[in-house]
Amino acid sequence: MSAYPATPREEHLSVLRANLAPDNTGLWCPRGWVALSVATHRALQRVDPNYKIVGIKEKFGRLVFSADSYTPQARAIITYAENLSCHICQNCGAPDAGSVTAGWIATLCDGCTVYPSEPRRGY
Ligand SMILES: [Zn+2]
Repeated sequence: MSAYPATPREEHLSVLRANLAPDNTGLWCPRGWVALSVATHRALQRVDPNYKIVGIKEKFGRLVFSADSYTPQARAIITYAENLSCHICQNCGAPDAGSVTAGWIATLCDGCTVYPSEPRRGY
């Protein structure tokens, strides 16, 4: 048991981890999209209770949610979530975010945008 209580983000990630397929590609979910990913997971469980998450990642500023369910309802839920991610800041989860290109493509709100003149560190 950790000396520190789990943060909501960690609790949410543990919900997603618990439903990973054995041959998953990992959870590389930006923190701003964790709530969206959990909501997507919950919706998928309703239409396919036995589905597993194959992987979650960001690509070109967009959520990529891979699941082993191929029902039309599951595909619609995933497509909706992936499209919605293009409007949610991948860093803080704020709505009304847009695509930012600064050597890479990211979906960021104005507050999280770092302009090219300001070097980013830690990436
Ligand atoms: Zn933000």
